[in-house]
Amino acid sequence: MSRLISSSTRVVALLGDPVSHSLSPIIQNAAFTAAGVDGVYVTLRCDRERLPALMEVIAHGGGCGNVTLPHKERAAAVVKLPSEAVRRTGACNTFWGERGQTRGDNTDVEGFRRALERFLGRSPRERRVLVLGAGGAARAVLLALIDEGVREITLYNRTVDRARAVSRRIGGERVRVAHPVEELNGGQFDLVVNATRLGLEPGDPLPLELSCLERVGAVLDLIYGDSETPFVRAAREFGVPAADGGEMLVQQGAASFERWWGREAPVDVMRAALEARRRP
Ligand code: NAP
Repeated sequence: MSRLISSSTRVVALLGDPVSHSLSPIIQNAAFTAAGVDGVYVTLRCDRERLPALMEVIAHGGGCGNVTLPHKERAAAVVKLPSEAVRRTGACNTFWGERGQTRGDNTDVEGFRRALERFLGRSPRERRVLVLGAGGAARAVLLALIDEGVREITLYNRTVDRARAVSRRIGGERVRVAHPVEELNGGQFDLVVNATRLGLEPGDPLPLELSCLERVGAVLDLIYGDSETPFVRAAREFGVPAADGGEMLVQQGAASFERWWGREAPVDVMRAALEARRRP
């Protein structure tokens, strides 16, 4: 089924730098076609200075969009009506106009929660979780895990001050910062989440050698690519169930779709579009 672009078509833009490798246009345009909504999803590379003006022009022109690296924190400061997830994480990845003002949400939180529940087959309530990383993605992960009622979170990041700042902002008593990495030796975790960038570039080291831990129940890697990520491969070789960030990508996109269009997203279509792209 093809769609006609007309004067009433709503522009939905992904703002970031870089944006050329994003799979969101494939996923969202498949969803727009399947749902029969009059929109077109495009990417716009933009720098930090131009982000506020672009968001405002798009939202006030009836459009909406996503924000990706490295602008999610800047976007959180720009939106006039931030959601609770934006306020608590300090990051915004979804925006749209409402009654003359720009509204923003952080659907990475919901995307991670939905993807994790699908992966585990249940809520992570009462589980012990190790989170690697302390950037924007880790903040969304932390918020989702805390709201799901996990028992304890251990946070490890290369830069310890960043981990401490994140744990102060979001974590509270249930988050323990581990540093140096040797503090993880012999640790026992129901779940390990990789929220670092490691695995994005060929030749990256693993975010953690799983052999240093005494027990790992499952591994969720936020990185995704056309094939198995190195951390997912390492976990499976270790006999640990593992999944990459593909499902989170789909689920955060589905949550964004719901904010823009006020209706349920065709998640199966979005997942199939991603899988078709990844198949060789
Ligand atoms: P970010 O804010 O730039 O944070 C990057 C994180 O990676 C920081 O914790 C950083 O540690 C760590 N890191 C970078 N290079 C490292 C190295 N050489 N050794 C050890 N740690 C290193 O990025 P982000 O927004 O959090 O995104 C992180 C990853 O999650 C990205 O790859 C992104 O694609 C992925 N992600 C996936 C989804 C999805 O839907 N699947 C959604 C959001 C993000 P320092 O603080 O020490 O620099």
